[in-house]
Amino acid sequence: MVSTCNCNQQSLVSKDALTTMPKGVIFDMDGTLIEQNVDLVKLSRDICEVADNDVIGKHREWDRDDLANAMANVSIDGQRKIKQIIGEECQRALECMTIQEGGPELVAFLAQNGVRRAILTRNYESNARHMQRMYLDANNDATFDLVIGRDTHYNGIDPLEGEISKSERILYICELWGCSPSEVIMLGDSIKDDILEGNRAGASTVLLEPEGYLLNNVYGTNSGNSMERKPNVRIESLLELRLLLEEQIARRSLDCWESTIRALEMEIDSSISSQSSEPITTVES
Ligand SMILES: [Mg+2]
Repeated sequence: MVSTCNCNQQSLVSKDALTTMPKGVIFDMDGTLIEQNVDLVKLSRDICEVADNDVIGKHREWDRDDLANAMANVSIDGQRKIKQIIGEECQRALECMTIQEGGPELVAFLAQNGVRRAILTRNYESNARHMQRMYLDANNDATFDLVIGRDTHYNGIDPLEGEISKSERILYICELWGCSPSEVIMLGDSIKDDILEGNRAGASTVLLEPEGYLLNNVYGTNSGNSMERKPNVRIESLLELRLLLEEQIARRSLDCWESTIRALEMEIDSSISSQSSEPITTVES
């Protein structure tokens, strides 16, 4: 069921993109465009184990809720081990990649309505391009305008050395698309990676929360503040987002008809009133 969040506190984000068709939708990949098959629990455990046994990491206190911090708190050798762990898990996930139900239909719907589409993932760009080809096969249609992975270069920075936040990437995508962040939707299944980062960038945020799958809600619940973690909309499937956007199109079309009818009525009224005020002329025989 689609539910729009009722925020009693002042929201940090504009909801413009949820009351009109957005200019673009930025998709997370794992758990959003494809079924979640990255084992985040194992990944977290293995990375923490490296940090706990690292010559630098074992003396450091760092936020375990944000695994990106691990890299900054371990030795060069620890960083190499963490990269290897992430690489192996991403490779394993690649081999059993499954498209999320409703994904190709949503992407095709957006393309048909002129809404731009980007993939923004902490997975590797090559894996995202593999998924893009799967979408192309499923859709035989337009897929994504942009593909940005954790290793996609950004302003000359190699992200493997210093990871670029998703909020920075969102602002960069909006710059490329020539629109404001408030005109795009950030859609993902992670509170920390997608909702918090989307809100920080000023985008509207949609949390995909398939029934029975709450792992990513737990992952990241200590990051940011409560408003930054709050999505504008929660959905249980990608089909629901398509229905929500179809409603916007239907509403826009109705508004358009209503304003056309109002304009016609005003024109008729004005014509009648000008006829009645014209002087009556008589024809003499
Ligand atoms: Mg995800």
